[in-house]
Amino acid sequence: MNLTGKMLIGGQAVAGSREAVQAIDPATGKLLEPAYPGGTGEQVEQACALAWAAFDRYRETSLAVRAHFLETIADEIEALGDELVERAVVESGLPRARIQGERSRTCGQLRTFARTVRAGEWLDVRVDTAQPERQLLPRADLRQRHVPLGPVAVFGASNFPLAFSVAGGDTASALAAGCPVIVKAHGAHPGTSELVGHAVARAVAKCELPEGVFSLLFGSGREVGIALVSDPRIKAVGFTGSRSGGIALCQAAQARPEPIPVYAEMSSINPVFLFPAALQARAEALAQGFVASLTQGAGQFCTNPGLVIALQGPDLDRFNAAAADAVQRSSAQTMLTPGIFDAYQTGVGALASHARPVAAGLSTEGPNQCQPRLFMTTARDFLANSALQTEVFGAASLIVQCANGEEIRQVAEHLEGQLTATLHLDDGDLQAARALLPTLERKAGRLLVNGWPTGVEVCDAMVHGGPFPATSDARSTSVGTAAIQRFLRPVCYQGFPDSLLPAALRHGNPLQLRRLLDGQREA
Ligand code: NAP
Repeated sequence: MNLTGKMLIGGQAVAGSREAVQAIDPATGKLLEPAYPGGTGEQVEQACALAWAAFDRYRETSLAVRAHFLETIADEIEALGDELVERAVVESGLPRARIQGERSRTCGQLRTFARTVRAGEWLDVRVDTAQPERQLLPRADLRQRHVPLGPVAVFGASNFPLAFSVAGGDTASALAAGCPVIVKAHGAHPGTSELVGHAVARAVAKCELPEGVFSLLFGSGREVGIALVSDPRIKAVGFTGSRSGGIALCQAAQARPEPIPVYAEMSSINPVFLFPAALQARAEALAQGFVASLTQGAGQFCTNPGLVIALQGPDLDRFNAAAADAVQRSSAQTMLTPGIFDAYQTGVGALASHARPVAAGLSTEGPNQCQPRLFMTTARDFLANSALQTEVFGAASLIVQCANGEEIRQVAEHLEGQLTATLHLDDGDLQAARALLPTLERKAGRLLVNGWPTGVEVCDAMVHGGPFPATSDARSTSVGTAAIQRFLRPVCYQGFPDSLLPAALRHGNPLQLRRLLDGQREA
């Protein structure tokens, strides 16, 4: 397919007329054709009007039709073949194997949501049958199901050009819930976005759904993004990116006459606690695992281990020496965008002015090269300087040496909200780990033992969320099937005749759902 530089409003390819976004090959610094002129206010309105017009029909599609739609999107993405992989590689600087893996994850995620939709558990049907004879007051027949919120604005993430972009996790979960989606493409990978956008639009047409179920807009966040979030027909927002961007969208959503939820995943440094027995038994192996996790994908993961916390002493010295050695042997890697590279350099500079540099990776000629970095500080300095817990997006990490267990507890307590917290422990560490858990449960969405936080499984039990600033709403996850719940709300139907009830709630349970019937779960 020839890239056109056009948006998709419903099924129509339409050219914008505002300032254009244009991808840059971060490995060479060269501009990539075509340019993508930004959408106008009227074009944002058009997409919202179409999404609103599509909503009532799309939200009442059968479970089978909606699941088939999600599977068709996955098929259409796979049918794009190598063209998609090549464009995503050149726009992101990520290796081909990574992009191929991300395509599998994207399609797998769409198919997982199809399975979720078919199972119907997300409807969370509850039935309390009428008790006309009840003393003192009779009870009416009461039935609850979940309905979708309405059209959702999705902001594609820079660091997952497929799995968290146009047809990524936010889009898949919103479409699964029954919400039309309007994507504001990330300016770093517009060509990839156009290709995937056409795949989604083809699936909409093949499944004979209303065209407003999906639109794709290009343009700046401050213009197109804010116009989208401010439109009264948009009822929720999905976002992954910077803390400042997420906060700006939350403020725009709260300033509306009708405020709406924003599910923004923003900033996390993912603390890793090394307990004494584990450190004594395998300091060098832990250092290898840590540096592999830190440098994966040039550290451009929201779950990158940006903080290591342990008791000072000879075992931590062994860990530090092995980690420094591994970092020094690590190659530089191309970062996603010049902006992200500049932010990394600034962040590393700030760390260097507050903490002791321990090691730097190999440097490479060429633009936008992330040189891995390791720093060290004491618990006392960490507690005194909040700049030390600012996320540095990239392969940089800080080791915090603590004088005793009480300092470890204070450091944990001092942390902002996190996506993950990791504990490396042996049997001899269980008591100390148990004592830290209540604090870590308050701080993070996912707690790991003897693993590394990078690599987020898409499954039913996953939580990719956490208290602010990890996300703007700690009650939810943006990865895994529970992500569908962000875009749903409960409605109760009281005293309805059977013929007026939605199918999910009818007597006789025609959809064969596992309902909660008079307090008992149906088999
Ligand atoms: P970003 O700057 O937050 O941009 C993400 C999206 O939000 C873009 O579409 C952007 O539009 C929009 N946006 C940003 N600020 C906005 C505002 N004030 N109002 C309205 N829309 C706004 O993120 P990025 O480009 O991906 O990377 C920049 C930094 O974000 C990185 O250096 C890193 O620190 C952080 N980041 C964190 C994660 C994570 O998972 N924790 C992931 C990616 C990035 P424009 O196209 O106009 O910019």
